[in-house]
Amino acid sequence: MSALHKALAAHPLPKKPYNSIKFVRIDGNGVPLYRVGKSERELGAAAALKSAFEQFGGHCFHCKVWMPPQPLSQACTRDHLRPKKDGGKDYLHNLVFACGDCNRAKGGSDLITFRAEVGVEYLKALDAHIVRCLTTLGSIGAD
Ligand SMILES: [Zn+2]
Repeated sequence: MSALHKALAAHPLPKKPYNSIKFVRIDGNGVPLYRVGKSERELGAAAALKSAFEQFGGHCFHCKVWMPPQPLSQACTRDHLRPKKDGGKDYLHNLVFACGDCNRAKGGSDLITFRAEVGVEYLKALDAHIVRCLTTLGSIGAD
């Protein structure tokens, strides 16, 4: 697996529990598979997010409240940054954790509409992610 592939496949938010999710490979159907923590099991993006949360917990992306490790439920949810109704998919880059209150309040609205400052924060994280990928690409190119 190339360094660039790993950099591209990482979650833009480079902290726990997101950074416990490691890209493994693309399967025969073009689906990226991940491993969480020290587990050998390969999971799709949505299942990997669930597993990472259940092992490590996480902050609500929107209101920052801490949610300790527990099964995902109505109280702790995965949230699509780009709503499904707008074509948002279960890609790793499109998924964060949200407390049930924020997820219900956000509903089908997009990130900027729901809470502009959090939307801007995510766009900054995406920018930093792209820079990390380009830096990786540059160091590969220099070989
Ligand atoms: Zn919240």
